[in-house]
Amino acid sequence: MKSHQESPQDLVSQKHRGQKMIWHPFTQMKVGEHDHPLFIERAEGSFLFTPEGHKIFDGISSWWTCIHGHSHPKLTHALASQAAKLDHVMFAGFTHDPAIELCSRLHSWLPQNLSHCFFSDDGSTAVEVALKMAFQGQQQRGLTHKYKFGALHHGYHGDTLGAVGVGEPGNFYAELFSPLLLKCERLSVAEDPRRIVHHQENDLDSVLELDRINVQSFFAQFGNELAGFILEPLIQCAGGMRMWCPETLEEIRHQCDQYDVFLIADEIATGFGRTGTFLALDQTTVQPDILCLSKGLTSGVLPLSMTWATDAIYDLFLGTSESGKAFLHGHSFTGNPIACSVANASLKLFDEEPVLHKSQTLSDVLRTNWGTLSEMPQLTNVRTLGTIGAANFKSMNPGPGETKSATIGQQIHRKLLKEGILVRPIGTMLYLMPPLSTQPDTLKEAIFVIKNALKTL
Ligand SMILES: *Cc1c(COP(=O)(O)O)cnc(C)c1O
Repeated sequence: MKSHQESPQDLVSQKHRGQKMIWHPFTQMKVGEHDHPLFIERAEGSFLFTPEGHKIFDGISSWWTCIHGHSHPKLTHALASQAAKLDHVMFAGFTHDPAIELCSRLHSWLPQNLSHCFFSDDGSTAVEVALKMAFQGQQQRGLTHKYKFGALHHGYHGDTLGAVGVGEPGNFYAELFSPLLLKCERLSVAEDPRRIVHHQENDLDSVLELDRINVQSFFAQFGNELAGFILEPLIQCAGGMRMWCPETLEEIRHQCDQYDVFLIADEIATGFGRTGTFLALDQTTVQPDILCLSKGLTSGVLPLSMTWATDAIYDLFLGTSESGKAFLHGHSFTGNPIACSVANASLKLFDEEPVLHKSQTLSDVLRTNWGTLSEMPQLTNVRTLGTIGAANFKSMNPGPGETKSATIGQQIHRKLLKEGILVRPIGTMLYLMPPLSTQPDTLKEAIFVIKNALKTL
């Protein structure tokens, strides 16, 4: 029985028991000494703090979510005041100001053909919504032979089964689930040589030509069967920070038009200033049919996502109640008012601070400083896109489940945590993706520490 007076020892053992129950994501729970999860007590700006007061630079924005830095006062204020007013209401048959404000505020930042928005809770559900919307939309316009999806090799779109089905089969052991997955055809695109610091000028033409031929033959083969084609514009993040060509994206858009395929842009990682522009798509001429947003939407404060669609898609779902055409999808927390309020406060910062200006300054500082990593003999393919810097460890090809590749990433992760920097390499790929509000000097200092750590590895 729980007593009324808990002694400090009780609390310690309770904490110990509770922690042993927690099953962590992407984690082998049969862990060794080094791998106990680190307690974080509080966070502020670009830094996390342990209970002992150890200060850690959040070099990956807490899984790419936290664009304005942690515990931004304007976001925490929006959260608290909305919570006191309206915490939640079901979204079928009800609506509220925070959701309405969010749609109209965000719309001005998006490609203007996107005029309707469906709310859900996280990146994976935004992708599920997009896939179901594309498929049902094709069915309802009579293109019933379109039952497959197209996607890029190395793509990552989330961990629910629909999203896994359009991700790279070799990533994160997705292959295991193949009997459960939807039908997907995959296209390979080349990396963009312009993103590499000190690249050779003459690589580009042959890369673009090869991509163009691959895109065209892919669509000639599969275009008629595809309901939608999903991709992460300009950079495949979880797939290894693979930066690819805007021209190739434009060719895919063109082919989608030729074959009546809905183009789904997954900007869950790239949105909200991460690549130097509001969307990565803003660096191209492409307007997608469907757009998925999440991670940066509330700057990592609360889970929330949106799937935007065109009038043409929205109209395919209109009919009488008996027509069976409605989009019958929803989640308990759809359009949560507190999350919407935080997203509104986050968007206001894009005007007030202004965030895109900071993102561009940080992008320049990153390219200059991260670029110096190309001097390191262990590294290759040192590249940047906006505020994302990446590089690969040489001569260690990360095969599926390859232990050596995991070891180098874990080694550098542990070593840098001790030095007060959070990086979490994916296989043999080392990267930085700091909050956009990071001070340039903080970023320079972090890269300096990373370089020194690499020297002693
Ligand atoms: C993280 C991510 C997702 C999945 O989002 P969750 O919120 O983790 O479910 C989908 N697509 C991309 C590009 C992502 O980076």
